[in-house]
Amino acid sequence: MTQPIDAATTQRLTAAIAAAMPTAQALFDDLAQNTRDTKGVTRAPYGDGEQYAYRLVQECATRLELQCTWDAAGNLYMTRPGTDSGARAILIGSHLDSVPNGGNYDGAAGVIAGLAVLEAFASAGLRHRADVTVMAIRSEEAGSWFTGDHGGHLGSRMALGLIGASELDAAVRLDSGKSLGTHIAECGFDPQRVKDGPAHLSADRVQSYFELHIEQGPVLEMKDLAVGVVNSIRGNSRLRDARCIGAYNHGGATPQEVRQDAVIATSDLIMRVQRQWEALHAAGKDLVFAFGKLSTDPQVHSLSKVPGETRFSLDIRSGSPQVLATMRACVIEQARLIEAERKVTFELGEFSLSEPTVLEQPLIDTLRTGCEALQLPVFEMASGGGHDAQEFTRAGIPSAMVFVRNANGSHVAEEAMEMSDFELGTRLLGWAVAAQANA
Ligand SMILES: [Zn+2]
Repeated sequence: MTQPIDAATTQRLTAAIAAAMPTAQALFDDLAQNTRDTKGVTRAPYGDGEQYAYRLVQECATRLELQCTWDAAGNLYMTRPGTDSGARAILIGSHLDSVPNGGNYDGAAGVIAGLAVLEAFASAGLRHRADVTVMAIRSEEAGSWFTGDHGGHLGSRMALGLIGASELDAAVRLDSGKSLGTHIAECGFDPQRVKDGPAHLSADRVQSYFELHIEQGPVLEMKDLAVGVVNSIRGNSRLRDARCIGAYNHGGATPQEVRQDAVIATSDLIMRVQRQWEALHAAGKDLVFAFGKLSTDPQVHSLSKVPGETRFSLDIRSGSPQVLATMRACVIEQARLIEAERKVTFELGEFSLSEPTVLEQPLIDTLRTGCEALQLPVFEMASGGGHDAQEFTRAGIPSAMVFVRNANGSHVAEEAMEMSDFELGTRLLGWAVAAQANA
């Protein structure tokens, strides 16, 4: 149960968050300056940029008199102790690595927001029952850095005991040619202990995980909102290599009504999926899709032929498992109907499925209450990109996320977050953590 925070405390906290912004600004500036690359910033996991970021936030945490500890994988924990040492801790986390030539805010904003929250708790004289810990997470951008057989989100998965021992050897950083385990050891941490366990974090010691992150799409900009409450992280269902088979024939002599035109049949399928999206979107459901690859066969196709075959892919994404299931059923059903109507055959293959992560409803409710208390518009949205919060959810730790408006997309040098928006996001984060920490 979440204890409400009274108006006076809310006001004190708001002022203290504002007073913590110069520290946050200095951290962003320092990171931009000292991890910059030819374009944007580069903070390779366990590389120079990420290591610099760790030294920087640890120095800040020391100044703020937080207790700093590390786990065997090199994740850093910066803790303001609570009044009840038996209470399970609250984590505020995000990652300090970036993609190559990335932006300064993706990841770092969440760690810096956590430090601002703890600076504000101290200056506002806020007492909380549970420990509140800022976790600076390693290698969230593993997909951009590590080749080989690994499951991504390496830092959080190592902390949570969700990583397979083989991944430490199998994941090899593209630029260095060294394995994850070697990089961990070279930074002074203990890959063997990561493999052997036990996990550093578990649901019996951590009650909840909060993450502030820049929005990676344009939704908050489009809505003219500074802050969004994330309710889910999109999963996907995909057709990697589908085919529509009709019949090649003479493009002049074959009457239109008897043609088995694979391009028209595929287009028909695409538009039926589009209409299904329109219906679900109008009903407020979260859904995006793309037929990202679509082609006729250049060996056989011709200006003067009826096209007899297409190949295509389909990527459906949603924060809702039900919506993904509805869309899969729609594609299969409509393909069967088109087969009968247009005398073609669809070979769709099997849909792959990566389940969405549905974030914790009571924590979403706390964030919604926080928006109201702070007079911020309440807006819920799905996250299009993956985040460490997925892994915490998977490990049974209730998780929540706050998005902050960001221009020009993310994973690019041009990322642009306004500090005024960051302050509002941090205010909401601080409010929710304060509410949760006294619960
Ligand atoms: Zn990120």
